[in-house]
Amino acid sequence: MTNAPVRFIVLHYSSTYADQDLGVEDIRKMHLDRGWNDVGYHYIIKRDGTVQKGRADSAVGAHVAGHNTGSLGICCIGGLERATGPNVGVDNRTDAQKAATIRLVRDLLATHPGAQVVGHRDLAPTLCPGFDVRSWWASVDTGSASTVTTPEIPPTIRRSSRGQHVITAQRRMQARGYDVAPDGIFGPQTEAATRQFQRANGLSADGIIGPKSWAVLLG
Ligand SMILES: [Zn+2]
Repeated sequence: MTNAPVRFIVLHYSSTYADQDLGVEDIRKMHLDRGWNDVGYHYIIKRDGTVQKGRADSAVGAHVAGHNTGSLGICCIGGLERATGPNVGVDNRTDAQKAATIRLVRDLLATHPGAQVVGHRDLAPTLCPGFDVRSWWASVDTGSASTVTTPEIPPTIRRSSRGQHVITAQRRMQARGYDVAPDGIFGPQTEAATRQFQRANGLSADGIIGPKSWAVLLG
């Protein structure tokens, strides 16, 4: 079963307390305990803003009943406060989580233009993720959100680098038409695409994505 085309990017919270510093392995365990075959979300964003990969984007998720096919699920860790308990979900994302969400959603929209950015509660009877995602995203898009921070330049990546920053670079190059798949591994194909991208943009074609290449890539 394929997950294409992606029509919705769905934001969630993990329905855990703000002081619980959980990550993808914790959520995967919770979901395996439910009898699922993997973590239900495609991305997890930790309290410190770290983006972790869950399911492959090409795999159908398990995060929103009735809309799992053709959607990507992003889960920010948190949503509950000790004071109000488990039955009241709130938006207690950290600034780092908000900034990471903005960057991730923009990357995903570059790959899936036309996808709608919505909250779980827009598609199903739930409080998740504790805020109105459509209006929040509209405010981000017009630049009026107070949470928009100046994007920091990611670390330098090169041949054999791995991880989320590699995926970000690959997505950005793919969106510009370069022949590269966002698999998170900086292999020969990514290096070749990087050199092409650098040559086309007047950068030194060293195949290493440092601050100057990032600035163009993220600009
Ligand atoms: Zn949810």
